[in-house]
This record gives sequence, C-alpha cells and structure tokens, in this order.
Amino acid sequence: MNDKAPAAGNSAERAYVPVLSFAEGIGTSYFKSLDLDPNTVGSLELGSMQVDMELFRLYDNSPDGLDAVIRKADAALMLVKFLDRVCMDKIKEAYRMLIDEPFLPKSILIFREPKESEFKISCAYCGQKLWVRDRDAGKRGNCPQCRKTFFLPTQKSYLTSFLMLTEAVPVLSVTGGDVSCKNAVSSLIERIVSQEQGLKSTTMRVQIPPEDLE
Ligand SMILES: [Zn+2]
Repeated sequence: MNDKAPAAGNSAERAYVPVLSFAEGIGTSYFKSLDLDPNTVGSLELGSMQVDMELFRLYDNSPDGLDAVIRKADAALMLVKFLDRVCMDKIKEAYRMLIDEPFLPKSILIFREPKESEFKISCAYCGQKLWVRDRDAGKRGNCPQCRKTFFLPTQKSYLTSFLMLTEAVPVLSVTGGDVSCKNAVSSLIERIVSQEQGLKSTTMRVQIPPEDLE
C-alpha cells in the first residue's frame, strides 16, 4: 500500500503512519507508550495490519521534506501539547500540508502525561504565554499582561477553531503510558480499512437522519 496505488483485489496489510510531534519529549513518550523505539521506524501489529510508525520532531526543525513523507503516508498523526503562538504556527504549517491530501486519514492527538491538568496558550491580544487549567475552560479569564478579558477555551476547542478543523479530523486526548495511545492508532487504521472498502464498493445514495427530514 505504500506505493499509493488504489487498493484493488487483495486488501493491504501494511500501513505507513508518520507521527508529527510538536513538543519536546512527547513523541518519545508516545512511542514508549506503544512499546516502540522512537529513534527508528517501529512496527505495530493491529489485527491483520502491520503499522509502520515513524516519529518526526518538528518543534525546533522546519518541516523540510515533510511533504514527501506525507505523500507516501497511508495515514498521519499530529501529536501536540502546547498551543502557544510559536507552537501553533508550526502546527498550522504542517497541518496545511496534511489537508493537501484530503483522503489521508489523520487525527490530532493532545498528549498529556498522567495527572497533567493544564495547558498553554497565548493571549490573543498581546501574545503573552498563559497557563490555563482544564477546570477553568468555559470561564472568563484576564490576561495578567494586557488585562484583556476573554473566554478560556478547552485545548480541543482552541485547536478546532484555530485550524478550522472539520469532522474528518478527530481531536483525541491521549495519556502517556495509557491504552489511549494505542487506541488512537487503531481508530486511524479502521479508517484506512473502511476507505479501502469504500473504494471497491458501488455508489450509494446518502441517507438523511429522520430528525433532519422535513
Ligand atoms: Zn494579553
């Protein structure tokens, strides 16, 4: 399947999934949670699929060559933690490359170590980096630097609005050392498999949920 040829006949059994990491340490921690070596291409067995996962650390490198990596990918994961202005600029740059491949299954993973309960954003007015506790999301907060008041987002809502994400790009929370790390890969692989089945099947008429019928 790495040759990107449309799946015809036998189903693909191997998938290449680059993991794009946007904060120091989280890629290593994520790979260790999957029992993979973060410094090499590691393989995960998921059902009948062998998933070859490779870590790309993009927090202090510009993503040179990333477009070539994305072109040969069967799916992609973005691993994020901090959402301050500098990080978000890098995340957005990479995300733009990913949406150039609209049929590439992709998820954004918000990575936390166990018991972490706050996250970092930048003040939309003055750029001051700010810690926000999860339990304060939805409340109004004041920036201590510029004194402006604004509604505090969740990490997920902040990413969704900043990147203008659609339903096709799930944002999942994963915790280091936790089964959520592997589950995120499994759900991505399910989408690869169902896309391949979709390519082979005949065209069907879309259904409208009863509550939306006039
Ligand atoms: Zn401010």
